[in-house]
Amino acid sequence: MPLKTPEEYLESIKKQKYNLYMFGEKIDNWYEHPIIKPTINPVKITYELAQDPRYQDVMTSISQLTRERVSRFTHVHQNTGDLVNKVKMQRLLAQHTGCCFQRCVGMDGINAVYSTTYDIDQKYGTDYHQRFINWLKKVQTEDLTVDGAMTDPKGDRGKRPSEQSDPDMFLRIVEEREDGIIVRGAKIHQTGYLNSHEVLVMPTLNMKDDEKQYSVSFAVNTATTGITCIYGRQPCDTRKMEDCLCDTGNPNYCGQEVFVIFGDVFVPKERVFMQGEYDFSGQLVTRFAGYHRQSYGGCKAGVGDVLIGATALIAEYNGVERASAVRDKLVEMVHLNETLYCCGIACSSEGHKTPAGNYEIDFLLANVCKQNVTRFPYEISRLSEDIGGGILATLPSEKDLNSEEVGPLLKKYLKANPSVSVENRFKLIRFLENASMGTTALSYKIESLHGAGSPQAQRIMIERQAELQKKKELVKKILELS
Ligand code: SF4
Ligand code: FE
Repeated sequence: MPLKTPEEYLESIKKQKYNLYMFGEKIDNWYEHPIIKPTINPVKITYELAQDPRYQDVMTSISQLTRERVSRFTHVHQNTGDLVNKVKMQRLLAQHTGCCFQRCVGMDGINAVYSTTYDIDQKYGTDYHQRFINWLKKVQTEDLTVDGAMTDPKGDRGKRPSEQSDPDMFLRIVEEREDGIIVRGAKIHQTGYLNSHEVLVMPTLNMKDDEKQYSVSFAVNTATTGITCIYGRQPCDTRKMEDCLCDTGNPNYCGQEVFVIFGDVFVPKERVFMQGEYDFSGQLVTRFAGYHRQSYGGCKAGVGDVLIGATALIAEYNGVERASAVRDKLVEMVHLNETLYCCGIACSSEGHKTPAGNYEIDFLLANVCKQNVTRFPYEISRLSEDIGGGILATLPSEKDLNSEEVGPLLKKYLKANPSVSVENRFKLIRFLENASMGTTALSYKIESLHGAGSPQAQRIMIERQAELQKKKELVKKILELS
């Protein structure tokens, strides 16, 4: 049975031995670290829900490669139903965690590399597609979590990779051998890297003919020798090291960002999926970005559900849930959130088959989806802060609430709705604070803005696919303009 139980996942991921640093210190037993520990739970729950018969169709699918039931996170989309179920799965998981569950970048990378390796082979007679399928079968059979790695540090933004004063600003091949390649560089903003077994590396932009060394795609174990990880800071991260629960906002679930450095890492030949075919790097990036822009129509809508629920609840806890202004703001939040979901479903339903046989989304609609994602969570968040009130920014600590000296005073003055305990109201305010300006806000706002490409990247794609000429012809025909 390829599906791992949550416990098996936990055991397997603990075996990963990383060269990891945080606050300048080397971290051993990384999975026990209080800052990292709550980031494992959102991935663990992807394994848990896959075991639940209620969610079988959404969380799993039958692999066309192994003919077995596999996690949807390792599946190659076979029809538009798969594309739609992917978005549903993402919404479901975000509803259970209220944060980023980290596994989608790998899923989107798998689907983008699958069709691109097929296309490269068609043009050059290479065998990348078969190599990729062999690797993917292992991923599916062992139910591995794969991290997708795309973003390079990029150095001087005004210069191409080949023009940088330091050639390592974009990850590149530094040596080609009979049995494989040696790569050097870095991949930054690596969501859930430590919680993944494998990393699937892709180029970050469209390369030119003098940039073959940068046109590289491969997969390695995340703990491969030569890889150094530096843990990314997040707002309120050290609150997790205090001996308290509520102050972190969302104590059990949290995203994870890692700065990953590849210091001359050997990649065996059978794990290399692109080696110099620069003319396919742009296509790979576009496909990956399209899939990931679709993803946000699911996961951000799921986090939105949790935030809307928390906002409606705080209105109740504050005793204002019946006020017409509050109800109207909640309606607006729902309207914006469902619009994101509509876009995710629309670009999936309008998907099409690639020459490799898998399905990809409608690119124009996926880009419109992501463009809305760069805006609506900010408005939803603003409305949540509006209803939540100024206490989101001024609440004293959990230790004060529990202190013998000031605790009783706080409990007296933080009482609102008489039927709600101060402790529950306190917990919820912290959750809302976290969603507005803490770790949840990172994935709900900053990541919505920059993840899968900043807003301008979508506008470029929207312009390319806008078919303005066709639209002009429509009006010419209606008005009989010659
Ligand atoms: Fe998945 Fe959303 Fe996290 Fe991206 S931000 S990995 S789509 S949950
Ligand atoms: Fe993301």
